[in-house]
Amino acid sequence: MTFENPPNTSIQAANASVQTVTLRALDADRVVIRTEACQVCYTLTRQAVGNYKPPRIMGHGAVGVVEAIGSRVRRVEVGDRVIVANTPYCGQCYLCLRGRPDRCQMLPGQNNPLLPIGTLSDGTEVLQWNNEGGFGELMIPYEWYCMPVFTNNVSPVELSMLGCVGACGLGTTFGVAPVEPASDVVVLGCGPLGLSAVQGARIKGASQIIAVEPIATRRAVARQVGATTVIDPNVDTNNLVARIKDMCKGPTDRKFAGGRDWTGTAGAARPASGVPQFGGGAISTAIGPDYVIEAVGGDTFPPKAEVGPDPTGILPLQWAWQLCSSAGHVTTVSVAQVGNFSVPAGQWSNGSKNHHPGNMNGVSGLRDMQRFSRLIETGQFNAKALATATFPLDRAKDALQVVADRTTIGAVVVFS
Ligand SMILES: [Zn+2]
Ligand SMILES: [Zn+2]
Repeated sequence: MTFENPPNTSIQAANASVQTVTLRALDADRVVIRTEACQVCYTLTRQAVGNYKPPRIMGHGAVGVVEAIGSRVRRVEVGDRVIVANTPYCGQCYLCLRGRPDRCQMLPGQNNPLLPIGTLSDGTEVLQWNNEGGFGELMIPYEWYCMPVFTNNVSPVELSMLGCVGACGLGTTFGVAPVEPASDVVVLGCGPLGLSAVQGARIKGASQIIAVEPIATRRAVARQVGATTVIDPNVDTNNLVARIKDMCKGPTDRKFAGGRDWTGTAGAARPASGVPQFGGGAISTAIGPDYVIEAVGGDTFPPKAEVGPDPTGILPLQWAWQLCSSAGHVTTVSVAQVGNFSVPAGQWSNGSKNHHPGNMNGVSGLRDMQRFSRLIETGQFNAKALATATFPLDRAKDALQVVADRTTIGAVVVFS
């Protein structure tokens, strides 16, 4: 669990350690789950070095087996294998009922605080991050975080990829902006989330999937799991938008035959700066991918792998907007950007581009965890390609470190 940390603490120096917790009596709405595996997404690297009081058990997106249930719990039974999802699904709140259970109001917030599950030996109360605490040998989540899965052929490590990054990436293609067959999809960033988006686009029948990623090993995996083209954004960076738009012109410019207007190619409209201009009519806004999925985000720590063109994460957001065709969909799911970005006001007000900012793009945990685990079971979704390193609990800092360094794709803390 993490405690208080001064600013700029390194992961290895973080005041975070394995502690023994004496549990409180079980709440009627909570479940006791013996943890098998917990994914380590990039968000955790920032949380590990944060300043928290009282201490919190880290981890979200974990898998385990139910050991006990509170008196009001109906969704799970003792012995069930359960994904404890990053986002709850209560099925009853305003946002669940309006198709955004990924914004379920059972998420922790001002009026829905983290509540202690027990105490340290000195009496200090202990919270669970996100009310789930996936780095604990036991998790004590509320029922609405628990998504039972009924598969015997998928390992807990693979299932743990669904609890946060896998569901988020698949959600970009299944959720509020579902990818249509034969479409052009661009995925910016190929960490575990982006690689899940690539696979979702493939599963949904996209014909062209262009993956943009600075790290060579991640580009190679993107190809393995479905990208039809991979691009290093550090090569010819200023022409990236124009190059990709050119790849998404379609087979004909015959407007009366269903084609796109190629008037003013993306390349021809490029000024000396290399930044394409939009809104002035120079480039047909029909040119561009049907879907752009942005999964880059800002660097919390400097990577030890290839560094992207903009550590703040702003440039990929700009690209996502510029790339998208009129009537296309921009889905953004990343975090930790520093700064602001701008778009032409006329496009924002009237440009017909659809923007879908995360959280998980409409993923419904109770429905989709079973759906997504079936995709793993049938070989349609490759979760092993995302879970590239496992660590025991006493090496959790090392798991966080390789994720911060971006020297692995996805890490998992496993419990024996
Ligand atoms: Zn809800
Ligand atoms: Zn996460």
